[in-house]
Formats: sequence, C-alpha cells, structure tokens
Amino acid sequence: VSPSLAVTRIGELVTNDSELGAGPLGLIREAAVVIDGGVIVYVGPSKSAPAADTEVIASERCVIPGFVDSHTHVVFAGDRADEFVARMAGRSYATGGIASTVETTRAASDAVLLANARRLVDEAISQGTTVIETKSGYGLTVEDEARSLRAAAECADEVTFLGAHVVPDEYARDREAYVELVVGAMLNECAPLAGWCDVFCDEGAFDEDESARVLAAAREKGLGLRLHANQLAPGPGAQLAARFGAASADHLNHLDPDDIAALADAGVVATLCPGADFSTRARYAQGRSLLEAGVTVAIATDCNPGTSYTTSMPFVVALAVRDCGLSPDEAVLAATLGGAKALRREDVGRLVPGCRGDLAVLDAPSHVYLAYRPGVRLVDVVVRRGEVVFPAALKSDRRDEVGVGS
Ligand SMILES: [Zn+2]
Repeated sequence: VSPSLAVTRIGELVTNDSELGAGPLGLIREAAVVIDGGVIVYVGPSKSAPAADTEVIASERCVIPGFVDSHTHVVFAGDRADEFVARMAGRSYATGGIASTVETTRAASDAVLLANARRLVDEAISQGTTVIETKSGYGLTVEDEARSLRAAAECADEVTFLGAHVVPDEYARDREAYVELVVGAMLNECAPLAGWCDVFCDEGAFDEDESARVLAAAREKGLGLRLHANQLAPGPGAQLAARFGAASADHLNHLDPDDIAALADAGVVATLCPGADFSTRARYAQGRSLLEAGVTVAIATDCNPGTSYTTSMPFVVALAVRDCGLSPDEAVLAATLGGAKALRREDVGRLVPGCRGDLAVLDAPSHVYLAYRPGVRLVDVVVRRGEVVFPAALKSDRRDEVGVGS
C-alpha cells in the first residue's frame, strides 16, 4: 500500500475543473491536495486538509496537474544533429530524414532502445510530465516495429503503432507491398502490443487511400485511432481523422475552414506540436482558429530525433502562447486536460477527487510563469500516482544514493 501524501500551502492550485474553482482552470487559492493509494482524496482549503504520511509544503507557490504529453516518438537510436544544423542553414524539412533514424534503430539492440527511451521519459518526468504516449515507427519491419512497441510499453503510459510512418527505402519502388505488409502481418503482430494506431498522412508519407486502409484495418483490430495530419502541406488528413472518428489529429499546420469544421463536428482533439515547428522553422499551427471553432486543443512535444528533440512541456507551453495564439490559461489547459482528452483518459489531466494523484509544484506563484519565463527550470517537485518521482533526492527509494538516510 503506497503511503498517503499531502501537498499543502499551495498559493495557486490549477484543478482544471471550473466547478471546483475560478475560471476555466478552476483556480483555488491557499489550497491543499491529498493523495491516498495513488488517487486524489481531497482538494480544498489547506487549513482543513486531512493529515497524511508525507507532507510536501508548496510554500505559497503554484501547483498544476502533471502534463499529459500525448504525442512522442522516444523509441529510437542515434541522433540527427547534422540534419538540424543543415536545416538551420536553410535546408527545408522533408520526411527523408526519418530513414536515417530507421537505419540506426534497426541496428540497435533491444537494451539500447529501451535505455534511450527510458532516459527521455525520465527527462520528461523531471519537467512535469506524468503521462506520456509514445510510438513505434522507426522499425518499419514486423520484428523491429514489434520490439519498438515492447520497449514503448516498458516506459510509457500509452503505446501507439506507427508502422505507417513512412515507406521504408527497400519498398520505395513498391509502396503497395509496404501498405499490404502494414495492414497484414505487421498489424497482426503489433496490434496486441499497442492501444492506438497512428498514420502519417502527409506529403512524402501516406496518401488518403493508403491512410484510410491502415486506419480501417487498425479499427478492425480494436485499436484507437490518431493521425499525423496537415503538417507539411494542406491535405486530406484532418478530414480523414474526422471521418474515422479518430481521438486526435496532430500537427495541423495547414488547415482550411472546412478542415476545422470537420474536426469540430466529429469531436476530434487537435494536438498542436509547436516544438516541431520551432525546430523545422515551419509556420506554426493556428490554435486560435481551432479554439474559436469549438475544437478541443491539446499540445504535445512530438519528441523525436529529427524535428523536435525536446521532452519539455513547459517549452511547448511557451511556444503555444507566443506562436499558436493560445492564452497562458489555454496553453496550460491544452498541456494537461487537452492531452488527457487526446488520449481519451478521464483519470488524468485534472486535480479532482477520484483522479490519479499526478501533479507538479512550480517554483513560481502562477501557471502564467510557464510561458512568461521560458527556458527556466520552474518544475520543482513532480508527483505521480501519489509518489514523488522528481527530484531524485526526494524519492524514497533513492535516499541511500543521495545520502539522506532512511
Ligand atoms: Zn510525430
């Protein structure tokens, strides 16, 4: 049984429940959160909080729900720093760079893939992420996709099959054969290892018919659906997400009003990945128009070695405010509850009784500071399922390592 934990003397608590507190973020002043058995049992005034085994004193600072990063690619080997340098010197991004990560990933052992993914997940946790989705997509053979998904399941909360990332080089002259492989043997092997199927429907990746075939086959296998859509060029991805009732359409840099209306009508979450726009010097997705049309917006890191090698949700919040037209309130909501909705999770993304005890104590008086003080470490303590998971010095199982004693 995990001990209970109370976070007390919170100056500003973001609950994300407008019935619990003020405004869309449900802000409460002078608050406490108490977690027992990994689940929140109390949210309210600090002075009336029930006692717990452990107390974290927030000292009048801000506490937010843990970030829900609903789109990452942390299972890979190698890096693409040279490609980044070339891009910053003026070369534009094309999907071809993925092939180099496919080559290094195929050559890496299971242990290397898992160690690399774990390192990135730990890095994400240290910046306030408490739920993370990750994908395959750098294997692109039956065996390499399957072992990528096994590594993903070892370190991530939500696992997505992305065999339809790009057509690998060996199938360049026979795309049809690759799509057949994905919807056949690859999906058979991978569907039991994943909860979701994603398709990169864009210029240089998969077209409308190919994407629809993969989505239909994945739905048949019982997988939830998500898409990389309209990132590099206008295209059919957003409409396809709506037609298939996908949980989320991601990137969405090139949308016309019909695309936005289709996402709104179908209740598809729009997941913006401004870290990719930053690192490819691309036009930013226009979150404002999506919000005005009534679309639920999420933001995610898209952590990957080619186009967005960051695990930092605070960085993504800052970009969403500066460049996607979101207010600081909307960006924090998108990074927490928005991500939960993109993953169709009811148990995370909010700080209310009954939800998972996932939160971050900020070294700041307000959530606004996440965007207002970019590039500064503001995440001070991270709690996941009621346990302190960052900093390591506070983790009970690591006390010996840091000499705190037991
Ligand atoms: Zn991606």
